[in-house]
Amino acid sequence: MNRVYNFSAGPSVMPESVLEKARDEMLDYGGSGMSVMEMSHRSAVYQDIINRAEASLREIMGIPDNYKVLFLQGGASLQFAMVPMNLMKNGKCDIVHTGAWTKRAIAEAKKFGEVNVVASSEDENFCYIPKLDKTKFSKDADYFYITTNNTIYGTRYTELPDTGDVTLVADMSSNILSEVYDVGKFGLIFAGAQKNMGSAGVTVVIIREDLIGGAGKNVPTMLDYKTHADEGSMYNTPPTFGVYICGLVYDWVKSQGGVAGIQKMNEEKAGMLYNYLDSSKLFHGTVRSEDRSLMNIPFITGNEDIDAAFIKEAKSRGIVNIKGHRSVGGMRASIYNAMPPEGVRALVDCMKDFESGKVK
Ligand SMILES: *Cc1c(COP(=O)(O)O)cnc(C)c1O
Repeated sequence: MNRVYNFSAGPSVMPESVLEKARDEMLDYGGSGMSVMEMSHRSAVYQDIINRAEASLREIMGIPDNYKVLFLQGGASLQFAMVPMNLMKNGKCDIVHTGAWTKRAIAEAKKFGEVNVVASSEDENFCYIPKLDKTKFSKDADYFYITTNNTIYGTRYTELPDTGDVTLVADMSSNILSEVYDVGKFGLIFAGAQKNMGSAGVTVVIIREDLIGGAGKNVPTMLDYKTHADEGSMYNTPPTFGVYICGLVYDWVKSQGGVAGIQKMNEEKAGMLYNYLDSSKLFHGTVRSEDRSLMNIPFITGNEDIDAAFIKEAKSRGIVNIKGHRSVGGMRASIYNAMPPEGVRALVDCMKDFESGKVK
């Protein structure tokens, strides 16, 4: 077996101990004589798995009691539609436009009501988080929508917008569990599992109870949060194996000192790479320093041939999936929670050797 340092933006690196545990339990989960993927979702043993996953997530995120945790399917992308379908009672929302994922969220929300784009960083290819002017906020908006971490462009909010009485909704797909958030500041948080929580196929929604039940009568049953909240994410078959993996990841987060412990490690890991980028004459970060992500770090040389040569060199050292997204170019290192510090160290060493001409 030869594991690589996988810098993929998602699906992405998993904690090795989680994979090992899943392997060890693959054929016989807890003496049940079967794999988790073979179990009825109505069985007591599976009910215990999903209950414990939820309890662990509540514990590590400090989710208040008046919030529901839902394990859904359809990806973060389905939430772009479910959020307006369920929350747009007055037919209006505010959105801050910070990249490709808010673009999609805006397009979906427009199908259900009026969308006020409060601010945008499109003018500079989304390399920063725009400063917000409160006079542009709609007082009668049903919610105010942000993407806390922009996976493609490598930006993140370091401060949440103060939306007063207006419900804050966040797409946290690429930085959930990476830093401490006060869940009470949000009305709804959603995240696909495949970046920081587990395998693809699970979408977690954390929703304040008073926001449930507002869907119009034409909203399909499966797209109504109330359906899933009332049935404990068991209205229909949930993504059973994926939820189990999420539970293992949440336990792993606990073992790392919780989200606060993880955040400290993430700051150190990202710091290693940013420090080098700030001193390098060859590689340059593309994001304004005050808005830099801890999770996704794009960087360029400005020359496509040099980028390609670097990516090739990295690959030869077992450093993979660092090619940048086409909309930024160059390279992108996604250093999610499960990326060990040694992986970042190996990448920085590779960059140093490449820059100093130690490799051809
Ligand atoms: C990956 C990602 C998405 C899309 O997730 P899917 O699960 O593929 O629908 C949406 N928003 C953000 C911020 C992402 O990183």
